Formats: sequence, structure tokens, C-alpha cells
Amino acid sequence: MKLLEFEAKDVFGREGIRIPKGVVVRKGEGLPPNLEEIGDRVVVKAQVDVGGRGKAGGVLMADAGNAGEAVQHLFNAHIKGVPVNSVLIEERLPIEHEYYVSIAIDRSKKEPVILFADTGGVNIEETARTNPDAIRTVGVSPLFADVPAFLLRELTGTAPAGVRDAVNRLYRVFCKNDALLAEINPLVTTPNGVYAADAKLIIDDNSLARQGIAVNRDLTEREKEAEKHGFSYVELEGEIGVIGNGAGLTMATLDLIDHFKGRAANFLDVGGGADQERVKHAVRLVAGMPSVRVIIVNLLGGITRCDEVARGIIEAGVSQEVIVRLAGTNEEEGRRLLAEKGYRMLGSMDETVRAAVEATA
Ligand code: GDP
Ligand code: MN
Repeated sequence: MKLLEFEAKDVFGREGIRIPKGVVVRKGEGLPPNLEEIGDRVVVKAQVDVGGRGKAGGVLMADAGNAGEAVQHLFNAHIKGVPVNSVLIEERLPIEHEYYVSIAIDRSKKEPVILFADTGGVNIEETARTNPDAIRTVGVSPLFADVPAFLLRELTGTAPAGVRDAVNRLYRVFCKNDALLAEINPLVTTPNGVYAADAKLIIDDNSLARQGIAVNRDLTEREKEAEKHGFSYVELEGEIGVIGNGAGLTMATLDLIDHFKGRAANFLDVGGGADQERVKHAVRLVAGMPSVRVIIVNLLGGITRCDEVARGIIEAGVSQEVIVRLAGTNEEEGRRLLAEKGYRMLGSMDETVRAAVEATA
């Protein structure tokens, strides 16, 4: 799970990394009244989970007096195609120098690796390409709670002690939170100390429950509904709705859509033993996404009975065509019920997916 900047800064701040004073504004909310308490001069930053916001117009300089215009501007904008649902208004730091620090897992060495550069900021990717030696790296045994001092020195060179300290605290954040990536770019020096001007944190999804981090995910109504029914449900960018049972079969269906050059709009795994009610809810939920033009139901009947599935599909009564592939228990009865109502029920996965892709061509 990738945290938004303000969520990541909250985590960093709790580990003692200095964070600029700031406030989050969500779309549709008014500006907070005491903006000048943040500072006369502010930075207004789109909270979207894409990198390179600065270059894409997602980081604006403003005064406390006219910050509202910058906020409105961002709410009306798309940053690299992503709509802006929240912005962070922060005190503008008097930056002296920008460093870069990033921690990830080195999978071949099976340990965290820290990357550091004296030349952080928006051009770090160019630096990585044109002058890779400017980025130093050290691996740290995950058994260490802190980065050993000699490694910190090797990594940060002549950077001030406050920078070294922030790098070490970021390493603690990385380990404690089961992170896949923890990054500060830029990590800045100012007359008042060292600050994380930006923050990136990706947490291993498998550890979220024990981390207990309050993450503000904007679930769609359909995603909330799916959660309620215990469906695994994900929304994508295409036109074909996908319902399967079991992650393997559902993923195989997606692969096949890709193979036939179609695009999935979403996919839903109903899980084991789906009865008529669950299938009905699943079909209605998938059909409720406006971009869905045709739906594939690809189910294997084991505990799940094909006739129940057929009844669920028919009862859902959605406006889009539902193309069905059912195999297993009570398949004949399911087939008969669907045929009676004019549903297409094809034999193989190939045929089913191809028919759906053709229907959206
Ligand atoms: P990114 O482009 O998505 O990585 O967004 P950043 O948060 O890193 O902001 C982009 C750039 O804006 C930074 O590299 C800084 O140069 C600049 N910037 C961000 N915050 C401040 C600030 O408080 N003061 C000043 N002077 N510049 C800032
Ligand atoms: Mn940045």
C-alpha cells in the first residue's frame, strides 16, 4: 500500500524526523481559518500517489493570503492524469540544500539497501541516469535496529550530522513498518534544522493489519459494498467486467482478456461456495460500474452449484450482456436455465473471453 505524502509524513514525524507544519484540505471542504499560523509563505501540494508532482504542476508556491486560489487550481487539475482529492498546505521551508535518501529491499542480498545523494530534488532520476556514481548505496543487515555509524558515514560523506540522523530514523521507519520503500526527496537543510520536505512510504500489504496505520483510502461505493459482502474486488480502466471464483481462475481470465487485446473494467472474486444471493450481488456490483459494457462470469462449480449461479445471474437482471462459462456440479441445469433466458453460455474460457472482447470492439 502506497501512502499519500501527508500520511507518510505522519509516520516519519512519529519517528522523530522533522516535518514542516501543515494542514490537509479535502475536496469540498473550506480552507482552515488560521492559515497564517502555518506561515506567511506556503507550499500547496497535490496529494496524489504519483511521483514527479513538482514537474507536473502539482506543487505550487503561495502566500497564506492567496493559498485558496492554489488549492482550487489543484482541485480542478489532473496531475499526470490523476484527479486531486486532497491537498497539503505547508509552511514553505527556506531550503539551503537538498539531499536524496531512499531505502528499499535488495532482494538478491535479502537486506535493506539505502541510497543517498548530495544532489536531491526533482532531477534525481536524471542524476541516476547521467551520473550514477553520485548515488551511494549501502546494505544494512536487517538484524540491526540502527544503521551502524561507520556505514552512515560511508553513505552520507560530508553531509551534516542532522542529515545522518534523519537517514537513520528513516531506516527505523522502514524496518518498523515492514516497508517496501521509504524515501525522502528532498531531505533538506534549513537555518532551523533538517526537514523531510517530501515523503514516500510503501508498506507491504501483508503487514498492514499488524501495523494498524490509519490510512485514508478513498473507497468507491462499490468497493465498500464489495468489502461488506467479503468479495475481493478491484477496479481497472477497461470495459469488461469479470467475475470468477478463486484468485487463480479470476487472474487467468484477466490474462486471457489481455491476450485477446481486451481490457478489464474490474474484477471480482466471489470466493468459495457462492450461492444464488451472492452471485446476484456480485453481478449487480460489477455491472454498477458505468464503464462496464459486457460481463464475463467464469465459475467452476464444486461446492458452488451451477444452477444456483445461473439463477443468481438471471435474478440480477442487469442491462449489460453477461457471457457465462460454467463447469462442474449441476452444469446441465445451469446451462438450461441460462439458455431459456437467452444468455450465451460458451464451452471454453477462450471462446468466452473472445466473445466478450468482440462485444466491446
Ligand atoms: P515531487 O515532485 O512529487 O517529488 O514533490 P516534492 O514534494 O519533492 O516537491 C518538488 C520540489 O518542490 C522539491 O524538490 C523542492 O525543490 C520544492 N519544494 C517543496 N517543498 C518546498 C518548500 O517548503 N520550500 C521550498 N523552497 N521548496 C520546496
Ligand atoms: Mn519529491
